[in-house]
Amino acid sequence: PTSGPRTLLALNWKMNKTTTEARAWGRELAGGFERGDVEVAVMAPAISLPGLKESLPGGVDVGGQDVSAHESGAYTGEISAAMLRDVHATYVIVGHSERREYHGETDAVVAAKARQAQAHGLTPIVCVGEGLEVRERGEQVAYTLAQLRGSLDGVAENVVVAYEPVWAIGTGKTATADDAEELAAAIRGALREQYGELAAGLRVLYGGSVKPDNVASICAQPNVNGALVGGASLKVDDVLGMVNAL
Ligand code: PGA
Repeated sequence: PTSGPRTLLALNWKMNKTTTEARAWGRELAGGFERGDVEVAVMAPAISLPGLKESLPGGVDVGGQDVSAHESGAYTGEISAAMLRDVHATYVIVGHSERREYHGETDAVVAAKARQAQAHGLTPIVCVGEGLEVRERGEQVAYTLAQLRGSLDGVAENVVVAYEPVWAIGTGKTATADDAEELAAAIRGALREQYGELAAGLRVLYGGSVKPDNVASICAQPNVNGALVGGASLKVDDVLGMVNAL
């Protein structure tokens, strides 16, 4: 859109890149990146966050891909919000469909993680979106809004929402700009119910097979304030292509 919050390009590396590769990527990006109107944030594996921000061009943020719902203690394998904050994370993805599907995360767990992130000054990027069967039944709006309400239970307004239809993730099948806007507008309405006028300033992202040649048309939609990008976030050329297209 032409007005509203600054466009956010959130890069979700998923389980890719060693720490050595992550830092080399940061330096490569720094070689071609010009700071513009778009905010860029790299969601790296937690192990690669220390020192990553320093290797990236100035103004590029870093974040995590998941966070524990707990403060600290006997939760083997988990990473806390305080730990992410300590290595300069500003964002953290919560409720990605891969976490929901492979790790059984419910809306209640996702909301608890988002609240925990906020308690430590992180901005959660809360992911929602329907699978193929729901889309084929035409029930994507009701499904996604129910998921959203559960995932934002008790969550304050320092939040980003990513609409990621599961059938579009990693498949090369992108939602049309109209499909993305249909859900982004519905999500905006739900945010207005929860946060009132502040909803206009919140960012709603689209995710699912975003790449340099479709990012601009999707992000031009009135209620779409950026993108959450997986596959096309791995190569510097693709990221520069997206930044330059926006
Ligand atoms: P994709 O992934 O861009 O590879 O479809 C998006 C995501 O899962 O966040």
